[in-house]
Amino acid sequence: MSSLALVNVGALVTGVLAAPRADADAILVEDGHIVELGTSSRAGGADVVVDCVGTTVIPGLIDSHCHVVLGDYTPRQKQVDFLDSYVHGGITSVVSAGEGVHAPGRPHDPVAAKAIAIAAAKCFAGFHPNGMKVVAGSVILEPGLTDSDFAEMARHGVRHAKYGFGGYRHPADGAPDVRRAQAHGLCVMSHSGGTSIPGSSPISHEVLLTLQPDVCGHVNGGTTSLDDDGVTRLVRESPMALQLVQAGNLRSALHILRVAREAGAMDRVCLGSDTPTGTGVMPLGVLKTICELASLGDLDPEIAVALATGNNARAFRVTTGTIAPGQPADLVVCDAPVASSARDALGAIRRGDIPGISCVVIDGQVRVGRSRNTPLARRLATIRGAAIGPAAH
Ligand SMILES: [Zn+2]
Repeated sequence: MSSLALVNVGALVTGVLAAPRADADAILVEDGHIVELGTSSRAGGADVVVDCVGTTVIPGLIDSHCHVVLGDYTPRQKQVDFLDSYVHGGITSVVSAGEGVHAPGRPHDPVAAKAIAIAAAKCFAGFHPNGMKVVAGSVILEPGLTDSDFAEMARHGVRHAKYGFGGYRHPADGAPDVRRAQAHGLCVMSHSGGTSIPGSSPISHEVLLTLQPDVCGHVNGGTTSLDDDGVTRLVRESPMALQLVQAGNLRSALHILRVAREAGAMDRVCLGSDTPTGTGVMPLGVLKTICELASLGDLDPEIAVALATGNNARAFRVTTGTIAPGQPADLVVCDAPVASSARDALGAIRRGDIPGISCVVIDGQVRVGRSRNTPLARRLATIRGAAIGPAAH
């Protein structure tokens, strides 16, 4: 059995919206799972000890809108190792937004849509760049997919579906297929707003209310936002999860946040980057969104973190995202950046400064020491008992 302890934790952010802070100053991990939130004095005997020197621990971030295809490569931006680099941005899990979207030469027939989703689910089940958990196997809904197709996909590990890029004549025509995917246990995310790539159709709030997907993807625009009254209706008249992304419209994201808060619907708000896309490869995409919503949306930093962790986990039915006994140990140690006037990571987020990451743990293993992508943390965690590569700042 391997053990890990994080000690001298200054602030512990749980990722749980209803209880976003915990009082412990140590996290004890065995065989990849958190076994106890406790006190540093009990953590001495662990194989690996991360001394957080009074800084902040948050759950590994989940990017709930990531454009993976196959491997650690984005055909859209022709870059390799982007997932490895996202781990340096505190992202320990990504949820695929449909591998077919950026597959070169994307075919529109249902057989190919099914085949790509199954292939992606099975490939990423055994491929973890820098430890990254890639929740892949997100079928693009296409006319002609049958009940037995969905049953076959579900049997082979496909758990998500993406609506909005298929060959439907009118966007609302896909409602029966959304329902069919849901009946087979798939979590369906729909495109929302204007078209993002040539050939896709705009999806208005009226269409979303008809489709009733589980998640309104990039509801602040992917990249062009819906009108403000439309998103207000989505918040008030449906139970759908509302995904805000970095690659959308920030003004719209702040509006949706305000409406969701007034409606008591914060548990439905979740965050993603919607990258790699035309917006680029953004290892800090999720962290940046957290900082923007907290600093401009008057949101407590630990709540903003919960939107990108526990809320994502619930909306997309993944098992990571919160710090609690029994959970996988996916953890990020961070502090205010060197030059910030904030005293700690939460203070930095509150004023819109990207915190500096000094350690990332996935499944109880130290994957990153000093991040090569964030600003330098003022206080750096020290790591004993684990070898990690040097950070190339
Ligand atoms: Zn997207």
